[in-house]
Amino acid sequence: MKLIDILKGKKLSLSFEVFPPKASSSFDSVKTATEEIARLRPSFMSVTYGAGGGTSEYTLKIARNIKERYGVPTLAHLTCVSSTRETVRERIAQMKQAGIENVMALRGDLTPEMEGQDRSHWHYHHAVDLVRQLVESGADFCIGGACYPEVHPESANQKEDIKYLQEKVAAGCQFLTTQMFFDNNLLYNFLYKIREAGITVPVIPGIMPITNANQIERALKLSGSYVPQRFKSLVDRFGDDPAAMKQAGIAYATDQIIDLYANGITNVHVYSMNKPDVAEKIKSNLSDILGK
Ligand code: FAD
Repeated sequence: MKLIDILKGKKLSLSFEVFPPKASSSFDSVKTATEEIARLRPSFMSVTYGAGGGTSEYTLKIARNIKERYGVPTLAHLTCVSSTRETVRERIAQMKQAGIENVMALRGDLTPEMEGQDRSHWHYHHAVDLVRQLVESGADFCIGGACYPEVHPESANQKEDIKYLQEKVAAGCQFLTTQMFFDNNLLYNFLYKIREAGITVPVIPGIMPITNANQIERALKLSGSYVPQRFKSLVDRFGDDPAAMKQAGIAYATDQIIDLYANGITNVHVYSMNKPDVAEKIKSNLSDILGK
């Protein structure tokens, strides 16, 4: 099923993100975790693509398994920054063969080594190059892209970031998923600005339940997200108590989702990070709102 059709629903729906194993030794445990999440019957599940593409085979295996065994629509991520056109052509053919209908087209992060390199000979510079190739392939994927309510760290300013986002949408992105954020007002502000700029595709907010103190540091380093005082207080109070921190982090994410829905947003993507217990708890916290 194409995501663009799923996103038309008027009631709150949750989707969950999982990531593939880095090595074959952990394939079975990751597969089991993703299956437990699939049993929660999310509206869809996204499967990330390992930086550099080293685990691309697992992205497809996990996505295909969830779709075929549990009937949950899947979104397979694909990055392009370190790839050749030929490699991406192969990946597109593999996705098609695996029955993938939805693809998240991403550039991928630049490593510190890449940043110093001469990039003139690279086959891909931005995600928009991949979006164009996916469209030109004729594979009829529903294509998604990433967006940044707090501005992508490489952008000079929000105006420039939104200009390139417009280009990505014009090239064929049918929906956008946001980077994590911890203050919903940042999202509402961003939505106002992109709608004003003429971007009308569905935007799925990405919510990351922070469930332990180490995760906070990693997540914030990666995303550069602003942390409101209310969230900092939770970490100060519960950071040393793993069980309490987990409960507080899940409650904070639940609260963000309720506020999003109350403000008219019906599709929320949860960065559930291969943690079925976290996904389950968020779903049960919202059981009456989600309904049957
Ligand atoms: P782009 O859209 O190319 O944007 C990157 C920067 O380039 C921005 O500053 C943008 O304004 C600028 N830009 C865009 N087009 C142009 C242009 N034509 N000319 C000049 N500047 C331009 N990483 C992974 O490795 N695997 C994943 O599975 C993965 N999933 C993700 C899912 C989501 C929802 C998000 C938000 C991020 C994800 N990432 C993933 C991380 C992502 O790869 C990085 O954030 C990366 O730095 C940017 O990717 P992008 O697709 O947004 O790039």
